[in-house]
Amino acid sequence: MALSIKEMREKIDSGSVSSEELFTESVNLAKKYQDKYNPFVTIIDKYEIDKSSDSNLSGIPYALKDNISTKGILTTASSNILKNYVPVYDATIYKKLKEAGAVLMGKTVLDELAMGGTGTTGHTGVVKNPWNSERLIGGSSAGSAASVALGIVPFAIGSDTGDSIRKPAAYGGVVGFKPTYGRISRYGLFAFASSLDHLGVFARNTYDVAMVMNVIKGHDERDMTSLPDDDKNYLDTIDNEVAGKKLFYIKEILDNSDNDKELAKVIDNFSMVIKKCESLGIEVCEESIDKDLLLALYPTYMSISCAEVTSNDANLTGIHFGVRGEGNTPEEIIKDARTKGFSELIKRRFVLGSYILQKENQEKLFLNACRIRRMVVDKINDLFKKYDGLIMPAASGIAPKFGEGTDKLSDKYLMLDNHLVIGNFGGFPSITIPSGFVDDMPLGINITGRVCEDDVVLNMAYKLENTMDYVNQVAKDGEIDV
Ligand code: GLN
Repeated sequence: MALSIKEMREKIDSGSVSSEELFTESVNLAKKYQDKYNPFVTIIDKYEIDKSSDSNLSGIPYALKDNISTKGILTTASSNILKNYVPVYDATIYKKLKEAGAVLMGKTVLDELAMGGTGTTGHTGVVKNPWNSERLIGGSSAGSAASVALGIVPFAIGSDTGDSIRKPAAYGGVVGFKPTYGRISRYGLFAFASSLDHLGVFARNTYDVAMVMNVIKGHDERDMTSLPDDDKNYLDTIDNEVAGKKLFYIKEILDNSDNDKELAKVIDNFSMVIKKCESLGIEVCEESIDKDLLLALYPTYMSISCAEVTSNDANLTGIHFGVRGEGNTPEEIIKDARTKGFSELIKRRFVLGSYILQKENQEKLFLNACRIRRMVVDKINDLFKKYDGLIMPAASGIAPKFGEGTDKLSDKYLMLDNHLVIGNFGGFPSITIPSGFVDDMPLGINITGRVCEDDVVLNMAYKLENTMDYVNQVAKDGEIDV
């Protein structure tokens, strides 16, 4: 049985198991599952620990997404252009975990350069869903989600620019949390879209997420968007009463006037969750938001993120680091490196981004997208005057099968599969917790709260998850089908 962080802590402290034994077991599981599910770019089998720490995480094995800089350890961002890149510095989050005595056992696969939501575009191949290997786990933090769902590690670190922690968490039946923007330093995270990028945590319960958050949050002068410390211990308030809290959901996003059968199952599950909220004394109300604004979420996200990533990834030339191209001039060398180093999907985003950033298009495309972002955030902040948070299904259904197409222009896709970007637009803390099953595949529910109220979001999620039977679940396929 896969142990939670809390259980590992108790066992290490009582002397019934050593941290090295836990590490070895984690690495052995990783090796066992790697062929079938492919969560790792690198499995680290050297046990290295800073023993001086008395942190809760001391001796606990974990995994990091492979777009987080680790000195001396291959860090590829799952892209061919970085397939040989060994960083010369540590990301702040890694440094903090190391100082806390947590033990890194692997670097996990992502969608190339964190762009995408399928877990199928990394240069080392597709990540499969541990609940059913015919289905995807989602992305971009695919390997982090899968390694936690498989019970290889009790927690893993991911990044989230649009939904990359909170969507795969739903597909994998685990918890995924993205805190307030600036709460965790981004120093050493390979930038995708800097104004939307967040680091965050996967675990199998919310208590464990809070334990990790206590270690990795905090001000960092190396990240100019880093917030001042909030001086909170998230475990102190995690079990507070939640009676009297108020949440809302957005009516237009759950509209099922087409009688879509899959959507009906998601809405059924959501109704069950609302009842659980009410049993805790949380009031859940329906609110309306202009449908045009909701339909604009995805295009707005794409316009801003593609523009930002085109600029951010301009440093991937193969000249200073990464795989070098061939040619006689610097231009030829860069062109060759970028042509060979990026997949078609990435190139398409760079083309979009370059177009959006062209002088004549900036006002109409980029700045308008920024205005729409502001309108969305203003609307949500306005509702947050009345409510403690927004509650919604995390996705429009269970994890899709490989190759299963989605109608990307349908209202359902545009709204229900993309509303999680609201959390990135406003930098709001946002968590997905498991809420049930459809066809033996997990579903997740998402709660998004006010900026700087990470503790409140964790408290509500903790109370809610404990009214349901999906705490600490490990993927079934992982146990029986390897
Ligand atoms: N799926 C979204 C995208 O394709 C989000 C990715 C992310 O959050 N890193 O860009």
